[in-house]
Amino acid sequence: MASTLRRTWAEIDLDALARNYKALKKHIGDDVKFMGIVKADAYGHGSVQVSRCLQDAGADYLAVSSIDEAMELRTNGITMPILILGHTPRDQVEKLIENDITQAVTCEAKAINFSNEALKIGKTLKVHIKVDTGMSRLGYLCDGDFFDGGIEHIVEDCQMPGLDPEGVFTHFSMSDEEGEEALAYTRHQFQLFKDVIAAVEEKWGKKFRLRHCANTGATARFPETHLDMVRPGLLLYGYGDFAKELGLEPVMSLKTAVQTIKHYPAGTKVSYGGTYTTDKKTRMGVLPYGYADGFLRSLSNKATVMTSEGKARQCGRICMDMSMIDLTDKKSVGVGSEVEIFGKLNPVEELAEAAGTIPYELVCAVSKRVPRVYLRGGEVIERELLLRLQP
Ligand SMILES: *Cc1c(COP(=O)(O)O)cnc(C)c1O
Repeated sequence: MASTLRRTWAEIDLDALARNYKALKKHIGDDVKFMGIVKADAYGHGSVQVSRCLQDAGADYLAVSSIDEAMELRTNGITMPILILGHTPRDQVEKLIENDITQAVTCEAKAINFSNEALKIGKTLKVHIKVDTGMSRLGYLCDGDFFDGGIEHIVEDCQMPGLDPEGVFTHFSMSDEEGEEALAYTRHQFQLFKDVIAAVEEKWGKKFRLRHCANTGATARFPETHLDMVRPGLLLYGYGDFAKELGLEPVMSLKTAVQTIKHYPAGTKVSYGGTYTTDKKTRMGVLPYGYADGFLRSLSNKATVMTSEGKARQCGRICMDMSMIDLTDKKSVGVGSEVEIFGKLNPVEELAEAAGTIPYELVCAVSKRVPRVYLRGGEVIERELLLRLQP
């Protein structure tokens, strides 16, 4: 869909995504399957296009956070297996089964509900058992004193007639952190996960077909944790130190174009609150990019963007729809000139650091008002604008 008014867009390089996938496949080896994490609209990159690319490239599984995200993929022709990492209400179990969607099971009460609902229609629901090994969020608690009880519950739930326990998984909370303490914590989580699987499989008398735990940090750093399948998100999109180490490329380039140029004398206050005062005769560019597009207001007076003449400082408070940049020494940058907010030239990691946050938050923050432009072989293959322009 052509966006006419907005001049800010996110280029999604599907070739880079396919190359990242290939490089990661090489890194994990032929015996390990690949689950692409495409929750939150594929970290802001567009889950349908990203999933299509991964499906074509031969990925094994996708994961999302909710049934709505899963249905978005099914509705758009994604046929590969999809796991829902979060909760699904019991009255939606039939829909899960009808659409061949796999559900995470995180506790006994949910296992009972899911099994009962599946039995009502004479079917079974494919599930992955979630073990809490130290993230302390979702999953059967199995650490320390909880080990025996946790095993007992998982075995019971694996035997429920309405459930088909295809997989078992856990989530690391510190696999991307530096230092001995984090390393020890991850090692403990992994050992506990293996112990739980061994104990459950022995009692149950069957084996899980898919054991998985490796997120970005573990996929990159700890090959022993790859087991049957890895589950990276950020790494796949090419952000962070591990991506750099593995030679992966950033998939998104967020771009905008200078909308207006103004000339101010020294001493001029710029934007709300007057937090920036020009210290010289200043040539100021206005960008149609503000916090409603995903430019965190906390980056006011801290961000830099990339122009054809190098980095330009963002000045004054970031507004809802606009922000200002100093173009005084960049004479060739004028109205209509393209500016990269982050991407291949201006790493998102630097912007995240300036905002005191992580790249995850910045790519997820790119709002639905920003059209995604999908590139293959340098050509635009699709434009997607998630606004309600049709009645
Ligand atoms: C989001 C998520 C991932 C991916 O995390 P990254 O740090 O982006 O690799 C993996 N597993 C679960 C359960 C998740 O929620």
